[in-house]
Amino acid sequence: MRVPFIAGNWKMNKTARESIDFVQEVADKLPAPAEVETAVAAPALVLQSMVAAAAGTPLRIVGENCFYENEGAYTGEISPAVLKEIGVNYVILGHSERRLYFHESDEVINKKVLAAIDNNLLPIVCCDETMGRQAAGDKIHWVVSQIMADLRGLTEEQMKTVTVAYEPSWAIGTGQSASSAQAEEGCYLIRQTIADIYNDELANHIRVLYGGSVKPGNIAEIMAKPNIDGVLVGNASLEADSFLKLANYQN
Ligand code: 13P
Repeated sequence: MRVPFIAGNWKMNKTARESIDFVQEVADKLPAPAEVETAVAAPALVLQSMVAAAAGTPLRIVGENCFYENEGAYTGEISPAVLKEIGVNYVILGHSERRLYFHESDEVINKKVLAAIDNNLLPIVCCDETMGRQAAGDKIHWVVSQIMADLRGLTEEQMKTVTVAYEPSWAIGTGQSASSAQAEEGCYLIRQTIADIYNDELANHIRVLYGGSVKPGNIAEIMAKPNIDGVLVGNASLEADSFLKLANYQN
């Protein structure tokens, strides 16, 4: 059974104080982790205090990025070993904003995924799809080739630690979510690709999330789809009230 996974991605949107206030506000109103797993991704600067604030609560703390080396002369980078050391559980890798603004290639993302797993962090690997590709009917090639490149060389055991997120950038931050059918199609494609590369058992084990303008008003319809195991939410995860509605979408 794949436990539903509701994850906020704050991006670069909260102060340190606001981050801690949020955790305190939601902590005792979250679903039991065996029913629905909940998490928020926050900027690196606030992760350590978020981990402390969330201790003993169901909320998991997620890094928004890490580098592929644990240490060395890499000014300004985020060590996956240190993320693990301070108690972070998951790390988002390959978000479309990292690909667009920081020029991350599939090759770099692949190295980051391997480094995260080496450090016992659970990677949430994002797979993009641009409007141009969608219009050109190139969706299948685009989604499949990214998954294959980003997860290249992972053993079956390593793959079991991975969550994949289908995040078409035309739906991110636009208020214009993919329809639940489009979201399901993307997530199905990802699961099918994993089945093709590995096997059905592994593909059925892995959680695939949808991200792009998810909000309290559309989450139930999206989560009802068979290949969508969770959501990665930007804007609608910023306010505690809204995040709680997402986390408790089953009620
Ligand atoms: P929005 O929910 O703001 O569209 O952002 C989605 C996203 O990028 C999650 O990683």
